[in-house]
Amino acid sequence: MYGNLELFIGGKWHGANGRKGEDVINPATEKPLARLPHASKADLDEALAAATKAFAVWRATSAYDRCKIMHKAADLMRERYDAISKIMVLEQGKPYPEARAEVVTSADIIDWYAEEGRRSYGRIVPGRGKGIRQLVIQEPIGVVAAFTPWNFPVLTPARKIGGALASGCSLILKASEETPGACVEMVRCFADAGLPAGVLNLVFGVPAEVSEYLMSKDAVRKISFTGSIPVGKHLAALAAKGMKRTTMELGGHSPVVVFADADPEKAADTIAAFKYRNAGQVCISPTRFYVQEDVYSRFLKRFTEYANGIKVGDGLEKGVTMGPMANARRIEAMEGFVNDAKGRGGKIETGGKRRGNQGYFYEPTVITEVPDDAKIMKNEPFGPLAPIVAFKTFDEVVERANSLEYGLAAYAFTTSNSTAAAIGDALESGMVGVNSIAISTPETPFGGVKESGHGSEGGIEGLGAYLVTKFISQG
Ligand code: NAD
Repeated sequence: MYGNLELFIGGKWHGANGRKGEDVINPATEKPLARLPHASKADLDEALAAATKAFAVWRATSAYDRCKIMHKAADLMRERYDAISKIMVLEQGKPYPEARAEVVTSADIIDWYAEEGRRSYGRIVPGRGKGIRQLVIQEPIGVVAAFTPWNFPVLTPARKIGGALASGCSLILKASEETPGACVEMVRCFADAGLPAGVLNLVFGVPAEVSEYLMSKDAVRKISFTGSIPVGKHLAALAAKGMKRTTMELGGHSPVVVFADADPEKAADTIAAFKYRNAGQVCISPTRFYVQEDVYSRFLKRFTEYANGIKVGDGLEKGVTMGPMANARRIEAMEGFVNDAKGRGGKIETGGKRRGNQGYFYEPTVITEVPDDAKIMKNEPFGPLAPIVAFKTFDEVVERANSLEYGLAAYAFTTSNSTAAAIGDALESGMVGVNSIAISTPETPFGGVKESGHGSEGGIEGLGAYLVTKFISQG
């Protein structure tokens, strides 16, 4: 069921063939699935040369024709969704329905960008002098290097491939070495759709070595990274050396504010399901729950019931609603957060420990009575931990919610229109869901503020991330 892992460079697939590599592990069993080849320096040089050559071809291809190829790739993704989703479950751990939704949504992202690329207009600004025509045009920025993580093996690359290809850029993608298989199959859809050789290249390797090598090259004009804040800062510094444009989609620590006028059971049902999606390994996962005193007990009760009802297991098993953590590092991290919370007086309402000793399974966890200076309240958990605490006033909760350096996503629940407007304005966050968790769609901007990064993916902003503006004054 697990696919053939290869590099895709200059329109050709490359297998192990003497290359270094690493094993890909199934997090549900801890057993190896396949061997992943690493790109050598010669491979990376070949990818750079291919992407440079292909950029000239692709930018000269009309948006109309680019759109047709992208639509065809998206159709192939939908046709092959079952196989791609199963590969994703095996390597990443999420339950099959989540993997399937990810593949289908990713095809939707490609379709949306394909269409939007056709609407990448410029404008004419009236000149001051007679006979002067002032043109503002948008051009593709050039060769893009993109680095994507293991939590959304198809969706994160799809955002970068969609934006880059729709705007006329070529791309070298280094996807996650821990979850490469589903991405390989997505790239195969583009190859089979007739994408010209070199427009999209897929490589793997030691992340720091690949990124540093690619970013040191003049040919690469844009970096798009999704991952942790420390790595994002490191890459942003490297990009600055060559004045390369960056999109940085980094971590978050999303506050959820439940006001007393909200329906606490309805809010708990909505946000708990969202919390444990992908075992909490989602950058916009709700991670700090502030509930107004009057409805605190009701919210906590319902939320804990939901956590207790989650069926943890292998993502390919029917009925499983939460899979394993993606890797052993997450188990260690969960143990660190929980031990620290307990040490500071935190109470474990449910969960709080690893489940079994094979596979990286961790229990859906709810923690209460935890102080604001506990690790779980300050550092992104990236796991199935939900600290739930009480608050009294609007101003107090806004201060606590905005107190961290993160600013990716935030959520609030209220039935008051004025509170909805006020909290939407007050939260320092790139995205705010008020009575809604629908903050990630192909047509809307997705991205953070503060240390959660800069730049947006999705929406017209996502296309703009791969375009440069040129002004032509024509006498
Ligand atoms: P990590 O910091 O080692 O790596 C994060 C990602 O960056 C991985 O995909 C990794 O392959 C990549 N990476 C690491 N060094 C790199 C380099 N020098 N150049 C290019 N890519 C590099 O952490 P991790 O253990 O893999 O993940 C843990 C943390 O990462 C989480 O706690 C979370 O904060 C963050 N994360 C965020 C997202 C997101 O969607 N924003 C996704 C995955 C992980």
